[in-house]
Amino acid sequence: MQTEAAIDVDHDTFLKDLIAEGLLIPSGTAGVYGTNSVFEKVRLAVDDAATSLADPREAERLRFPPVLPRRHLETSGYLRSFPHLLGSVFAFDGSERDAVEQEARASEHGDWSEFQRMTDLVLLPAACYPVYPAIAERGPLPPGGITVETGGACVFRSEPSEDPARLQSFHMHEHVRIGEPEAVKAWREQWSHRALAFLTDLRLEVFLQPASDPFFGRSGRMLASSQLQQELKLEIVTPISADEPTAIASLNYHQDHFATRFGLVTSEGEMAHTACVGFGEERIVLALLRTHGFDPATWPIEVRGRLWGEA
Ligand code: ATP
Ligand code: ZN
Ligand code: MG
Repeated sequence: MQTEAAIDVDHDTFLKDLIAEGLLIPSGTAGVYGTNSVFEKVRLAVDDAATSLADPREAERLRFPPVLPRRHLETSGYLRSFPHLLGSVFAFDGSERDAVEQEARASEHGDWSEFQRMTDLVLLPAACYPVYPAIAERGPLPPGGITVETGGACVFRSEPSEDPARLQSFHMHEHVRIGEPEAVKAWREQWSHRALAFLTDLRLEVFLQPASDPFFGRSGRMLASSQLQQELKLEIVTPISADEPTAIASLNYHQDHFATRFGLVTSEGEMAHTACVGFGEERIVLALLRTHGFDPATWPIEVRGRLWGEA
């Protein structure tokens, strides 16, 4: 069992310990794990707590499936910024003979991609992407704009890693604001305090800092440095393994990026701005396990109280 004295481990050791404890179940592919009921109990409690951070009178609760029509993703500009992260859905397209050949190759773990054709769907890379087209479809925003609470699987990001905090498939809880620029900026500011308070209540050692996205290629480096300079992305980081502190929540201000692409306009007819706050659920669970030990029953009472209402 991990103790507070033994937390300065590298991510290889941390991963081995998590697997030995049964908290993570390896799949044979980097960054893809099953979890046991202890891990899942904590993750669901984190999800509930992240949900209730939003005032239900203000935030509309929406849920979307793990696949996204690729038309929406194409419109969003994701392929320009992150072509290296996206996974798209392919499905069989062929004759009976092709099906036999496909099975023959697959049974030997060979290459059967020749029999697959791209569908209209991609794997959802972030929880907020379906929100923008869905809200745009309604027409101009109501006065004051709109706030959405959403969550679920971040189904796939092609970023295989041996770091247990960098998964290829994980869960994200997001709050999204769409409205006038000043209101959106103020909302993100307010959420930076709210998110810090929540994570501090969980007795995690957290810091808020400007960050940048891993934009692709040389032009991407310029985008990343301007994002950093303008503080468009803020991250709440915490130590999870002996590496650099890891982002457990991100606060992204997109300015008019999604609004212009999807046609989100305010009730006054101006282009809207958008922002989102995303909590990485597995990362928060890992940070809790690392900080307070592998047995949630022994965690500080304040932490259990915050997650399960234990007094
Ligand atoms: P990072 O800088 O670590 O790659 P990110 O900038 O890609 O994170 P976002 O796209 O803003 O993160 O996603 C929101 C949250 O989802 C992050 O704050 C983090 O907690 C979580 N997250 C992001 N990528 C991963 C991943 N590969 N595995 C697990 N959680 C992740
Ligand atoms: Zn988002
Ligand atoms: Mg990333």
